[in-house]
Amino acid sequence: MVSKMKTVLVTGGAGFIGSHLCDRFVEKKLNVICVDNLISGDMKNITQLLKKNNFKFVRHDISKPIKIKGSVDYILHFASPASPVDYMMYPIQTLKVGALGTHNALGLAKAKKAKFMLASTSEVYGDPLVHPQPESYWGHVNPIGPRGVYDEAKRFAEAITMAYHRVHKIDSRIIRIFNTYGPRMRRQDGRAVPNFIDQALKNIPITVYGDGSQTRSFCYIDDLVEGIIKLMHSDIHTPINIGNPNEFTIKELARIVLKLTGSKSRIVYKPLPQDDPKQRKPIIAQAKRLLKWQPKTPLKEGLERTISWFRIS
Ligand code: UDP
Repeated sequence: MVSKMKTVLVTGGAGFIGSHLCDRFVEKKLNVICVDNLISGDMKNITQLLKKNNFKFVRHDISKPIKIKGSVDYILHFASPASPVDYMMYPIQTLKVGALGTHNALGLAKAKKAKFMLASTSEVYGDPLVHPQPESYWGHVNPIGPRGVYDEAKRFAEAITMAYHRVHKIDSRIIRIFNTYGPRMRRQDGRAVPNFIDQALKNIPITVYGDGSQTRSFCYIDDLVEGIIKLMHSDIHTPINIGNPNEFTIKELARIVLKLTGSKSRIVYKPLPQDDPKQRKPIIAQAKRLLKWQPKTPLKEGLERTISWFRIS
C-alpha cells in the first residue's frame, strides 16, 4: 500500500525561517500549506515554490481563526515579527500573533490531531543574568519595555502550548531559537547581520549600537533547519535551545563582516536600544544528547554564503 502524503502547515511560511522550512518540506515531497499575512514575510521567498503541486500559499493572519480542509499532520507555528525593529513597529500584531495566533494554531492542531511545533526564542531569557543560558533558566524580562511585546508574547505562547499539551494531549514541541542568519534576511530587516552586510556592501558606516561589547551567538539557517526537523521527529515536549554556542561581541561581528566583504566602511557607534541583552549564548547540551544535533557551519562560512546572496539579490 502506498502511504498517503503527509501534510505540513507552516505559519509564517513566507518569512526568513519559514520559507527555508517550506523549501525543505516541498523537496521531501510533503504537502505544504504556507500561511502568512506578509507583514514581515515576502512572496519573493516562496516564488520558486508557487508552481509546485505540493505547495499552497494561503494569505491569512493566524491571529484570526483559520479553517483548513482535509487532514494536517504537522503544524509549525513560525509566524511573528522577529527583528526588534519589526516588533517595535508592530507591537500589537506581535503580541497578537504570539497569543491569539498560537491559540488558533493550537486549536487547529487539536482539531486535526496534528503534531505541533512552537517557534519560541532566546528572548524568553530577556537580558539574562545567567550565562550561558540553559533551558531551565526562567529569564529576566522587562514586561513593559519595548521588547516586552515579543518576549512576553513568546512566553505566553510557551505557556499555552504546554497547557494544550497537558490538557488536550497535543503532541507539541517548543524550540527556543537563538540568533539565526542567512540568505533571505531582508536588507532593511534591522538585525545586526543583515544591517552590517548591507552597510558594508554599500560602503556606508556600520552602525554598532552601544560600545559593541554585547555578545550574541549566531547560527546559520541550514543548521537551524536540521535542528527543527530533528526536534519535530522527537517526542520532547519541554523547550529545547537550538543555536550556535560560539559567542562573539557585536564589534567582532562588525569587523568580520568588514573583512569578508573587503568594505571601506568605518564603524560608527549609536545609542544602545533599551533593554538590549548584554550577553547571549545557548547551552545546547540537551539538543546534543537528545537530538544528536549540533551546528556545523562556522560563522565565517555562513557569513560568506550570506554575503554572496546579498550581492546578487
Ligand atoms: N545591533 C547593532 N547594530 C545594528 C543592529 C543591531 O549594534 O545595526 C546590535 C543590537 O543592539 C544587539 C545585537 O546587535 O546588541 C544583535 O541585535 P539583533 O537586532 O540582530 O538581534 P537581537 O539579538 O537583539 O534580537
